[in-house]
Amino acid sequence: MVSGMKVGILALQGAIREHRKSLHRLGVETVDVLNPQDLKGINALILPGGESTTTGKLMLRYGLLEAIARAGSQGLPILGTCTGLILLSKHINHSNQHRLGLMDTYVERNAFGRQLESFEAEMPVPVLGEKPFHTVFIRAPYIEKADEGVEVLLRYQGKILFAKQDNLLATAFHPELTDDTRVHEYFLQLINQD
Ligand code: GLN
Repeated sequence: MVSGMKVGILALQGAIREHRKSLHRLGVETVDVLNPQDLKGINALILPGGESTTTGKLMLRYGLLEAIARAGSQGLPILGTCTGLILLSKHINHSNQHRLGLMDTYVERNAFGRQLESFEAEMPVPVLGEKPFHTVFIRAPYIEKADEGVEVLLRYQGKILFAKQDNLLATAFHPELTDDTRVHEYFLQLINQD
């Protein structure tokens, strides 16, 4: 489908293999990103789910926090899922953890309460077409509010669960844990192919 396209996946921890699989299903080449040199030549980057405090610390240690923040602010398309959504955010409620701070969003971590640690639901997401998307949440964060410039793509019970700001895309759920590749396809459309 999209030959010649190379998408990096931050490979420090978390749901790396699942994102790789979703992209390979779409015929996209993937690169594991473990240090700043790995960012060279990629057309887009995915920040997978995991644990955002740990991922942030590792990114800092490997020089990736600064390198990815720079690439993102220069227009590299970045998809952050779950932990990735937290790392992309400028504001994280009650936390001073390391972050990229690229999106004008306010994030609440582990926000669905104990009894809802993990759950799944069919959600209508207009930008993905008519068929609802099967969303999987695991100790998920949500975006409490967003400043101007952020496009809300899915809001449920007042919580923002999918958002876009220019070249940046964030989901509170895990699109890589389903066979539905529509979120990845939507993300790939952000790549400027000229
Ligand atoms: N609760 C995790 C965090 O704060 C995110 C969970 C996930 O990525 N599945 O980083």
